[in-house]
Amino acid sequence: MPSPSANYRGRLAPSPTGHLHLGHARTFWVAAERARAAGGTLVLRNDDLDAIRFRLDFVDAMLEDLRWLGFNWQEGPDVGGPCAPYSQSGRRAHYRAALEQLHAAGLIFPCTRSRRDVLEAIGAPHEGAGADDEPVYPKEFRPPAGAPLPPLGEKISVNWRLRVPDGEEIAFTDGRFGPQRAIAGRDFGDFLVWRKDDLPSYQLACAVDDAGMAITEVVRGADLIKSTFRQLLVYRAFGLRAPDFFHCPLMNDARGERLAKRHDALSLRTLRAQGAKPADLIAQFSAEIN
Ligand code: GLU
Repeated sequence: MPSPSANYRGRLAPSPTGHLHLGHARTFWVAAERARAAGGTLVLRNDDLDAIRFRLDFVDAMLEDLRWLGFNWQEGPDVGGPCAPYSQSGRRAHYRAALEQLHAAGLIFPCTRSRRDVLEAIGAPHEGAGADDEPVYPKEFRPPAGAPLPPLGEKISVNWRLRVPDGEEIAFTDGRFGPQRAIAGRDFGDFLVWRKDDLPSYQLACAVDDAGMAITEVVRGADLIKSTFRQLLVYRAFGLRAPDFFHCPLMNDARGERLAKRHDALSLRTLRAQGAKPADLIAQFSAEIN
């Protein structure tokens, strides 16, 4: 019998920061279909890392909306499984252990610069700049390579960043978009692995969980392609083999703007209340993708 990690393991990783909309559902449908076609396992991970935006009622709503649409996962916060817990809020010890490993290897540095400092240094406008991405961290803000690191401390109150290999091309072949490449230090910079509010960054938590849950293919929205380059560096730092990646095109609204969780009109809740049928929505996804 093949070992479980040799089999396809995919995941849905929603964040409970608002009601899921049609765009999320479409991406999740692609993820679920790919797991099903491969005869694999689908994992539901609750990305409830961001304690500030996180709301318990959104977790229940999120799982309920996904069940209503007909998604079935074999492992998750509500069904358990061998990699439990499946909620990021319960996995802090894994992230802290990973951070300590990065610290011991000298791959990270503490940063007391504010986002404003960073935006000013790179001459970017403050408002709306890089709303969904981290600005490239200015090299002059870095401590010299090899400078002794202060201890992490029990409670963390500064940002910690991973030092990226300047000028190196990081590449992967995306299952949907084909070859992707980015230059470290130019297209993305030293990125957050731990935040001054003592929470792991999305990049660290995501890579630690995808590795820890033996995910073989990550299916997610194309807005996260740049994050994939960063996460490849996290895998490398731990000497881990990265999963495959399949990024899905994003969905726009009628005005051509990207759907966001504030788009209540296209939230699954609203569509359902208006009498939408799961089968019709799925048929629509299927027609759009094929
Ligand atoms: N939880 C993240 C989000 O909703 C997605 C994480 C991922 O798929 O890597 O944006």
